[in-house]
Amino acid sequence: MSSMTTPPFASTFQQNPAARTEAERAAILADPGFGRHFTDHMFLAEWTPERDWHDARVVPYGPLALDPATAVLHYAQEIFEGLKVYTHADGSVWAFRPDANAARMQRSSYRLALPELPEDWFVGSIEALVEADRAWVPEGGETSLYLRPFMFASEAFLGVRPSQHVTYSVIASPAGAYFTGGVKPVSIWLSTEYSRAGVGGTGAAKCGGNYASSLLPQQIAAQHGCAQVAFLDSREQKWLEELGGMNLYFVRADGSIVTPELSGSILEGVTRDSIMDIARDHGREVVERRVSVDEWREGVADGSITEVFACGTAAVVTPIGSLKWDGGEVVTGDGEAGKVTMDIRSALVDIQYGRAEDRHGWMRRIA
Ligand SMILES: *Cc1c(COP(=O)(O)O)cnc(C)c1O
Repeated sequence: MSSMTTPPFASTFQQNPAARTEAERAAILADPGFGRHFTDHMFLAEWTPERDWHDARVVPYGPLALDPATAVLHYAQEIFEGLKVYTHADGSVWAFRPDANAARMQRSSYRLALPELPEDWFVGSIEALVEADRAWVPEGGETSLYLRPFMFASEAFLGVRPSQHVTYSVIASPAGAYFTGGVKPVSIWLSTEYSRAGVGGTGAAKCGGNYASSLLPQQIAAQHGCAQVAFLDSREQKWLEELGGMNLYFVRADGSIVTPELSGSILEGVTRDSIMDIARDHGREVVERRVSVDEWREGVADGSITEVFACGTAAVVTPIGSLKWDGGEVVTGDGEAGKVTMDIRSALVDIQYGRAEDRHGWMRRIA
């Protein structure tokens, strides 16, 4: 790896002596799935109040040794990000809006009382890891290398206060096409018993704790045959917030699209934000406002809502075919993905894979 670029902060690069062979890698890349396989290296850096961020390094992927008293294991002071890099037709590798993920990680760190990671560290850490594991970026179809930057309280101390030692890491996982055999609508379970996040809580931060609290309702959704769970606001149990890890959009009969406005407990998705620009490029009106669950039920029934979809980095855009709850169900459309949903999805995916003009300057060349 002599060509490895050294960002200002990258102090060391340690080649993995047990890196997978080309044949082993090819076997994984032939059917990567999602989040099951990891590349040969990982990025690590440390933070202390005295030294700020330091000790940036790309090292062999492997287990972290943690003291049992490590704060994150007890108080969940942890945040993460998720973004993808894509191979374009000429073999170059590009990330989608990494600056937006860097900015969101800074907002999340503020809420979790973690140190702010500078944007050049965020982007530089991704560049350093992708450079080391360049051969792991899949090519063809809707494949990508999923990057998972995360930061956690790594001080061994049981006192309740912000950790005085924080570790930042990036791992990478090759991802196959999310939908194999065509984009199919999913059914959603409405959680009326549990909320994902509360007023003044951590819902707007991308932290593991939000996911921990969504697992039980997600399990209940699965018991009802649903792929995902939709959460309402915690105060009135009336206004739609989002799914466990995706934002929501409604397509109205007049051609406009509506998404629940940021409430303080909704996670501001990069995909959600990008779709606003794409829909406006397509001449659509985009509205951010409160959407009640009754509006969803009644709008689908009276035809004023023609399509519903969810969005996030992993699946990009997922059509929603039905909403189920204790005692009822409404079905949108005819069981196939709607046209507006698919137009928006294609437009976004085409930009990500370099097949359409990047009018908004979203793509950043990584390798
Ligand atoms: C990450 C996430 C999303 C989607 O965000 P993207 O930036 O579009 O991937 C939506 N909701 C929650 C709760 C999330 O954690």
